Amino acid sequence: MWSWRFARVAGIDIRVHLSFLLVIVLGAFQWGGLGLRGALFGVLLTLLTFASVTLHELGHSVVAQAFGIPVKDITLYPIGGVARLGRRPKTPGQEFLIAIAGPAVNVVLVFVLGGLGVALFSWPELKDAVLNARSEAPSLVTLFAMLVISNAVLAIFNMVPALPMDGGRVLRAVLSWFIGAEKATNISAVIARVLAVGLFLLGAFSTPTNPMLVIIALFVFAGAGQEVNEQRMARVLDGVQLGDIVSPYAPRFTPATTLGEAVRMLTMTHYEAIAVEHYGRLVGVVTAKDILRAAGEQGAWGYVAGLVRREVPVVDGREPLEAARFKMSEAGVPFVAVVREGTFLGLVTELELAVVADRLSSATFRRDGAARVGLRTEWRGD
Ligand SMILES: [Zn+2]
Repeated sequence: MWSWRFARVAGIDIRVHLSFLLVIVLGAFQWGGLGLRGALFGVLLTLLTFASVTLHELGHSVVAQAFGIPVKDITLYPIGGVARLGRRPKTPGQEFLIAIAGPAVNVVLVFVLGGLGVALFSWPELKDAVLNARSEAPSLVTLFAMLVISNAVLAIFNMVPALPMDGGRVLRAVLSWFIGAEKATNISAVIARVLAVGLFLLGAFSTPTNPMLVIIALFVFAGAGQEVNEQRMARVLDGVQLGDIVSPYAPRFTPATTLGEAVRMLTMTHYEAIAVEHYGRLVGVVTAKDILRAAGEQGAWGYVAGLVRREVPVVDGREPLEAARFKMSEAGVPFVAVVREGTFLGLVTELELAVVADRLSSATFRRDGAARVGLRTEWRGD
């Protein structure tokens, strides 16, 4: 939403959010006291800093891809970048390596840019520029100094052990080896919230106040809770395969189904997309919306054949539910065809997926509740 694709690297769309324009203006103002040259310097510095952020996110993404995890896209926001992964890492080791790859990129950049700076200028000159970077006049050596600083800050700040930041993920992964993913997530979330309160106070009561820190604190606080929920969801959903939730009762059409029959079927069911088959083979999908619109235009005697969408994303029935969600958002349609060993099992729609996920997650809450009640009676019996 509100983002624009500006590059594609390793099959990953790199997008920039519209609010990013604000940061560029801010960058121009920060150095604008030094005239037009200063303003241009500020813009260039901001762009190069966010190039570092992009490389940081690509670090996460490339390692994720190496583990077979699809990466949907990378989006740059004013407070940093986000790489969206198609599914969660399978093991703590994978999470550890994916999380640490981002800050590792910035550490490498500190050495590369620092080395280049020393080669272009001299060590004392670069060191001086790093120590006084903010008060220096815009020049090439100041640019190098600022980029070395910003990459060092990116590496250190991201390693703060506050979930969902990289450091928090590293902490969770390490804890998971000893106490399991569930407890590790809960403990990491508590630590993250304590740190978020600290960051909030630091940002709100330092002079001058640091609104960026306040925003990041709020983001961390909310994000930590989300991680706990996701972990709980993953425990439930991990054991369920896509093939398990294909409804045997879902209606199916043939190309010769009339619009009248289709509308009658829609009044009895809630399916938003229906498979069209021809002698057991999937021809395509028609959506409820298309049927209703066509019936309004052509009347009951038209055929669904004219409405068939032939491009249907396909997912293997042994894949987890998350795979379907990913394929849908990738293709931009609310349905996937589920197959097992070349046989079409049926469609799974976005709505069905949401209903199943919701039912299963409330089931765990009930199970947790029951466990707690059980514990209490045991304790009373003592
Ligand atoms: Zn990161």
